[in-house]
Amino acid sequence: MPPRLTLRSRGRERGVTQESFPEIREAVRKLCARFPGAYWRELDRDRAYPTAFVQALTEAGFLSVLIPEEYGGSGLGLRAATAVLEEIHRSGCNGGACHAQMYTMGTVLRHGTPAQKEAYLPKIATGELRLQAFGVTEPDAGTDTTRITTFAKKVGDKYVVSGRKIWISRAEHSDLMVLLCRTTPRDQVSKPSDGMSVLLVDMKQAVGNGLTIRPVRTMLNHATTELFFEDLEVPAENLVGQEGKGFRYILDGMNAERILIASECIGDARFFIDRASQYAKDRVVFGRPIGENQGVQFPLARAYVQMTSASLMVDRAAELFEAGEPCGTEANMAKLVASEASWFAADMALQTHGGFGFAEEYDIERKFRETRLYQVAPISTNLILSHVATHVLGQPKSF
Ligand SMILES: Cc1cc2nc3c(=O)[nH]c(=O)nc-3n(C[C@H](O)[C@H](O)[C@H](O)COP(=O)(O)OP(=O)(O)OC[C@H]3O[C@@H](n4cnc5c(N)ncnc54)[C@H](O)[C@@H]3O)c2cc1C
Repeated sequence: MPPRLTLRSRGRERGVTQESFPEIREAVRKLCARFPGAYWRELDRDRAYPTAFVQALTEAGFLSVLIPEEYGGSGLGLRAATAVLEEIHRSGCNGGACHAQMYTMGTVLRHGTPAQKEAYLPKIATGELRLQAFGVTEPDAGTDTTRITTFAKKVGDKYVVSGRKIWISRAEHSDLMVLLCRTTPRDQVSKPSDGMSVLLVDMKQAVGNGLTIRPVRTMLNHATTELFFEDLEVPAENLVGQEGKGFRYILDGMNAERILIASECIGDARFFIDRASQYAKDRVVFGRPIGENQGVQFPLARAYVQMTSASLMVDRAAELFEAGEPCGTEANMAKLVASEASWFAADMALQTHGGFGFAEEYDIERKFRETRLYQVAPISTNLILSHVATHVLGQPKSF
């Protein structure tokens, strides 16, 4: 049973130099110190899952901060979760293996029946059940989610699922998956976003009985996979919310996901800035520390300015989310600026390290590969710009 974290934020104290949730950050840093660069480099080479790290985070209660206390979590809210993920990434670790354990359960929490919540949430809080697979993307639909074709046909008290998903991360390390599928074909609904439903899939039961998982090796260690469904039977009681309304439920969860991933980008940016800053002081070339050159120190300073500004946007989005206010635009903008800040910092750190930036043992090249993902997933930059252009600025929609 993981301990319940009861620490509270000290109000809105995160300015340019102060940090929210100092006790949580300190505890995460301590935990992460047990998983140094060598641990991650070895996993990276083999594309292996960080089981010991995920177990340690679970036991410390960090993955259940968003689960309400009545179901065994800490009920601390999204800002605490951003502090956890930011510190994980600042420490050189990677939360990608388990961050979804924090927020995927939100679909059950917000839209599940009382029986589903009772059955799943307490076990997710202890880590006995892993709900960290989220199956939306399909090869032929891409970002145009309403074009998904994985279909769940109701037959008696079951759904029979057929189709294909791509890029479904952690599917091999999850007991449950939140799956979005069509229950009515797109050409038979009045709005394209209608007719999709969310099913909770029991992965252990499904594999070999209609579900095949094929790992996809990528440029980073992310445990991502392709899924093939062939007449997979899912009990009808595993439907979350109402049939046909699933797209809306998924959108709810995406705001939390974008804000949390933005906080990982802030952590990455801090990692790069910390490392580059130290290296610029230590490395002596032409008889002086390279940081004495403005050509080296200005990109460092720019990375800091960008990271700090993006971090304020992440805080703002998280505050709105916690207050139950609409925050779709802010969550998107936070993800955009944070992913760009982390990428700028990554490039700056690589340049600052010169040739050593390419050496595995410095961890810069690994984090460089890892942080590049966030401009593409969970939503690509262009789609965010399109959202802002059309929903905020009233420009005509391009698609
Ligand atoms: C490592 C990894 C892990 C992932 N994990 C998951 C997961 O667990 N679950 C899940 O469901 N998905 C997951 N994804 C999928 C991810 O969310 C998508 O890759 C992402 O949303 C982009 O979709 P796409 O790859 O289909 O790109 P596409 O939709 O094919 O787009 C390709 C490019 O074209 C651009 N583009 C497309 N349409 C437009 C337009 N109208 N205007 C301007 N530009 C446009 C996009 O911005 C993008 O740059 C993961 C992806 C990766 C790489």
